[in-house]
Amino acid sequence: MSGLTYEQEVARRRSFAIIAHPDAGKTTLTEKLLLYGGAIHLAGSVKSRKANKHASSDWMEIEKQRGISVTSSVLQFDYDGYRVNILDTPGHQDFSEDTYRTLMAADSAVMLIDVAKGVETQTKKLFKVCRDRGIPVFTFINKLDRAGKEPFALMEELEEVLGIRSYPMNWPVGIPGGYKGVYNRVKKQIELFEMSGRHGASILPSKAGGVDDAAFKEELGEEFHKQLCDEIELLDGAGEVFDWDTLQQGQLTPLFFGSAMTNFGVEPFLQEFLKMAPPPSPRKTLQGNVDPTEKKFSAFVFKIQANMNPAHRDRLAFIRICSGVFEKGMEVKHAQTGKMIKLAQPQQFLAQERSIVEEAFPGDIIGLFDPGSMGIGDSLVSAGLNATFTDFPVFPPEHFARVQPKNSMKRKQFLKAMEELAQEGAIQVFSNPMLSGEGFVIGAVGTLQFDVFKHRVEGEYGVNILLEPLGHSLARWLPRGVTTKEMKGLDKAVVVQDRWQDPVLLFESNWALRWAMEQNPDIEFLLTPASRESLVEK
Ligand code: GDP
Repeated sequence: MSGLTYEQEVARRRSFAIIAHPDAGKTTLTEKLLLYGGAIHLAGSVKSRKANKHASSDWMEIEKQRGISVTSSVLQFDYDGYRVNILDTPGHQDFSEDTYRTLMAADSAVMLIDVAKGVETQTKKLFKVCRDRGIPVFTFINKLDRAGKEPFALMEELEEVLGIRSYPMNWPVGIPGGYKGVYNRVKKQIELFEMSGRHGASILPSKAGGVDDAAFKEELGEEFHKQLCDEIELLDGAGEVFDWDTLQQGQLTPLFFGSAMTNFGVEPFLQEFLKMAPPPSPRKTLQGNVDPTEKKFSAFVFKIQANMNPAHRDRLAFIRICSGVFEKGMEVKHAQTGKMIKLAQPQQFLAQERSIVEEAFPGDIIGLFDPGSMGIGDSLVSAGLNATFTDFPVFPPEHFARVQPKNSMKRKQFLKAMEELAQEGAIQVFSNPMLSGEGFVIGAVGTLQFDVFKHRVEGEYGVNILLEPLGHSLARWLPRGVTTKEMKGLDKAVVVQDRWQDPVLLFESNWALRWAMEQNPDIEFLLTPASRESLVEK
């Protein structure tokens, strides 16, 4: 027990995700935040844990082969009175669906940018999701120990490419390509770091002081010191005021500079970020907003991870708590089925080490052993609270394949695999009445999802499958109540049904889609199922 009130517990929570293009340094920054948060004592351990996991889990083989991270974890630590939850999102673009869902569990996002590369494709996509969802974005320009773009040029790039103004919270100090520290605009002081040459394995010693301090002038040299003073004057003179509303609306981002690898700028970032980042925010439900001040428990499932250990067939449902206190062993209602579930053996994650959770508050993320009833987006609520979370993103698949078991004796296991993997959101499953009895059509946002799917069906369910990619790349749903019987000109489309038996049209090209739309001018072609909404550009 912390001795804090419920309100204080909620107010000290900061739950955020780091969004970045692969290789921008997300793993490194996460690790350094853990280092400064006291959760680990020597950096380098996150990577090595990753490596151990590869060895112990079959499923992770694919990660190893591809050299990418397929799964995501949740990290928690305390810093300066705050309880910090980092949602570690997978960085590979093929797994964006999973990443987007993880963002639904965050209250803010840290956008990490490589100083040499600037805004990259994945950064753009993820930023757009945050803006559409009203998730405030903080920006950390990384790798300042190396040559890269000029700070002012990067600010311009953010504005031009993402349409967001930035408010520098700190400013790099030293020689471009070899910065040594930051000027903290809040404290109005310079902080220079002593480079240890050990890739920032431990906390860096630093010295701080006013800009006019003679020692800094000497260390930086007359010319760079003057340049710094001019730049600070320019920033202060630009008169951009920090405004919470514009941050919330995705028009303004607090900007930090630093180097995750050598550690400089990491702690000043952590300190200011935690002060500015929002505590748990209210969430939309069908019955109205649920505010974290609500004392009755509510949570939603944003991720399901199954069969992490093939020997135990475990299935973890990750939930984000939105209101009330979670207590081990409590009984809650699963809103989608109306069933009461006892939340036994909840897990919390620090890096990959599991520990049992006794108590948790809004903003916290926990993993629950799930017997198989929960799906992505489902709600868990305590009796007496009527809340079904909505607003969960569905993404239009862009790749399709036909699958069937090689051996029809394995049909039962095959069906189980299809159902469970669809529930997990690993793949979207469609049936096709026109196809021979055994097969399904599966859809994915990225083709790597197919590889993982095949690997898992064969490894975890023991069913060898034939997977034949289709040439289709566009899916369109019909409004509720509309059937294809009423439609003309569908000879260029394949008609399938989704898990809810709604008809879905698959097209090979924009040309074929346009043709069908022209033949049926009164019918709306939807990017996602009618009752759901989408995040993609229409
Ligand atoms: P992720 O794919 O975003 O998780 O990126 P990683 O954290 O794995 O980093 C990608 C590469 O960039 C690795 O080789 C890191 O050592 C390197 N890196 C990360 N941060 C910095 C930094 O501040 N400076 C330099 N020079 N390299 C960095």
